[in-house]
This record gives sequence, structure tokens and C-alpha cells, in this order.
Amino acid sequence: MKIGGFVKSSLVDYPGKVAAVIFTQGCNFRCSYCHNPQLVYPEFFAESVSFEDVWGFLNERRRLLDGVVFCGGEPTMQDDILEAVLEVRSLGYAVKLDTNGSRPDVLERLLPHLDYVAMDIKAPFGREYSRICGVSVDDYEIRRSMLLIRAAGLRYEFRTTFHPTFLPAEEAAKISKAIGREEKYTIRQAVLNG
Ligand code: SF4
Repeated sequence: MKIGGFVKSSLVDYPGKVAAVIFTQGCNFRCSYCHNPQLVYPEFFAESVSFEDVWGFLNERRRLLDGVVFCGGEPTMQDDILEAVLEVRSLGYAVKLDTNGSRPDVLERLLPHLDYVAMDIKAPFGREYSRICGVSVDDYEIRRSMLLIRAAGLRYEFRTTFHPTFLPAEEAAKISKAIGREEKYTIRQAVLNG
């Protein structure tokens, strides 16, 4: 597992829990408003943090932390994400995954071992999706991830980050049509650097 950053304790990344956050390196999207280019573009990658060191820390803090968040980058890009989730869970932690929802096959294998999923919905389905993500995206895969998450019986949320330069607010508002009334959905405006 390629880990580009590790936050030992966070109150804001896992609703209701004190959690450590593992930032994986690598993403298959190129969103223009991305706040974590150091986790997306290989030329900006810092030296990886070893999973053994992270695991050792988590093992020591079992009584002080409630959960662990895997985010990125895009964690489902990691070949050994399932093994990492299982190892963290074996320590007794609740596990949350933050994902862009582009890899439903990987997600399907992970879901039985997760406690919470936060999935980005980047744009209204259709042509806009690929434009916002900066790569060609099959939005069928995004919708499949949504269905898998809904059927998994765990806590989840869908969320959208947008910036009016790239997606007008009225277009962003169309995304909510894909969200059920009972579902947790957050939409927020990106703050661009510089
Ligand atoms: S999916 Fe997330 S990490 Fe990847 S480029 Fe987009 S904003 Fe950045």
C-alpha cells in the first residue's frame, strides 16, 4: 500500500468518531479543483509512509481511537486495499472509506468489511461527469457503486464538491436528483488555491 500521509487523530473525518486517517497515493481522476495534488500526480508524491509503521501506531492506540479512515487520492487504486482494511479491522477499529466511486468491482469486495462509506458524486450524470473529473468516466460505474453502497446495509453518505468556474451552481443542484430523500448528502463549494 502506498501511503502519502497519515493523520494520527481527527475529529472531522469520521462522523461521530475519533479517527486516524490514512491518505493513499494515486488517483484515477484529475479533478481541476483537487486539493490533494500531492496524492494524485506521481511527480508530487512524497516518500511513502510504511503501512507497518501505521499499523504499529494503530495497535498502540487501540483504546484511544475509535476508527480509521482510508482516503486519498483514491484508496481503491491500491492493490492491497482489502488486506489493509482487514488488518485495521482486526485491531477492533471501525473503518470508513472515502471514494470517488469509479471502481465498483473493488468496492463490492470491500463493502462487507467497512462500517461507513463516503462517496463523491462529481457532476450530473452524462457528458459533464468526464469533464469535471478530467478523465473519461463511465458514469454507469458510478451509479453501480451507488447501488452497491445502498444495498450494503452500512452507514454512508454521498457528497459533492463543486466550483462555479467549472460547474455552475444550477448544474451542481441537478446532482441531488440522483439522491434519495432519506439519504445523507452534502454539497459544498470548493475553495481554489491561489
Ligand atoms: S477524485 Fe479526489 S483525489 Fe482524485 S483528483 Fe478528484 S478531488 Fe483529487
